[in-house]
Amino acid sequence: MSHIALNSGHKMPTVGMGLWKIPKSVCADQVYEAIKQGYRLLDGACDYANEKETGQGIRRAISEGLVTREDLFITSKLWCTYHAKEHVKPALQKTLGDLQLEYLDLYLVHFPIALKFVPFEERYPPEWSHQPGGPVIPANVPFRDTWEGMEALADDGLVKSIGISNMPGALIYDLLTYARIRPAVHQIEVHPYLIRKQLVDLAHTEGIAVTAYSSFGDTSYHEINMVPTDRSLVHLLKHGVINDIAHRLGKSPAQVLLRWAVQRGCAVIPKSSNPKRLKENLDLFSFELEDADMREIGKLDKNLKFNDPAVYAKRAIWAS
Ligand code: NAD
Repeated sequence: MSHIALNSGHKMPTVGMGLWKIPKSVCADQVYEAIKQGYRLLDGACDYANEKETGQGIRRAISEGLVTREDLFITSKLWCTYHAKEHVKPALQKTLGDLQLEYLDLYLVHFPIALKFVPFEERYPPEWSHQPGGPVIPANVPFRDTWEGMEALADDGLVKSIGISNMPGALIYDLLTYARIRPAVHQIEVHPYLIRKQLVDLAHTEGIAVTAYSSFGDTSYHEINMVPTDRSLVHLLKHGVINDIAHRLGKSPAQVLLRWAVQRGCAVIPKSSNPKRLKENLDLFSFELEDADMREIGKLDKNLKFNDPAVYAKRAIWAS
């Protein structure tokens, strides 16, 4: 398994499995199956509403001797309603309890957007709106408070590394002025329709590893009606440029998209419930894209973000 060295001194597998939108009913089995297939990084979040089931899958894999806890790299994310410093640790403890784990390998701030606190017993996970379908209510919590809460978790040994997600460059520069512990990872949407050269370069220049999510672009967003209908868009997995390269290399279009991200120095966390796809998504190191292929794929950029709270959480305070 290939790894990326983190500025925290730990190392993160280059390929993992994403857990967003995996239904509770199948999550434990899929986590177990992924570990059995060789996945060591699992990318979860409180917001994915499947941490208990993720924990059951991990527990089964460990108790059957497939892996030890130390073999795994488990990521979760702090939700927006828990940004106040006093809520950061209880949120992490809730996640750890659900996962049946003593520590996380990586804890990310899911979005740099602080929302009004929602107690666990009222609604968990709280999602974007305080009330289902209601408005998004911001909270007056400076990101610095949140980050100090995250640093305290690392100090306590509850998380090995801390990081950020969905953060614009200007906010990263601000964070770096006060961070006692620098973010180890920035997890962002990256695919050929959203290349984000400057944001990826900024992170790498500052020694922050980048995890690219939604590597298959629009693929993940059709089922939740988050693909803009006003643009005529070729499904990324069916794009001629990607398919021509895949055909020439004898690989799948999915592998070409993942390899493109990996070759830019990013980690990837594709989600799949299909055993054949799980296997192919892990097989990214038996081939390489030529410079000309990288350049051709680079020309597909449309600066098109599918996962944009400015669109789906309209009242979020957000400038991307
Ligand atoms: P993804 O790009 O991994 O796409 C998933 C879709 O692609 C699924 O429909 C799956 O069936 C299909 N697929 C998977 N492998 C395939 C293959 N080999 N061939 C053809 N189709 C294939 O989508 P994603 O779930 O949006 O992103 C991956 C992970 O990133 C998430 O599960 C989550 O862990 C993380 N993520 C994080 C954030 C964040 O805000 N930090 C946001 C979105 C996603």
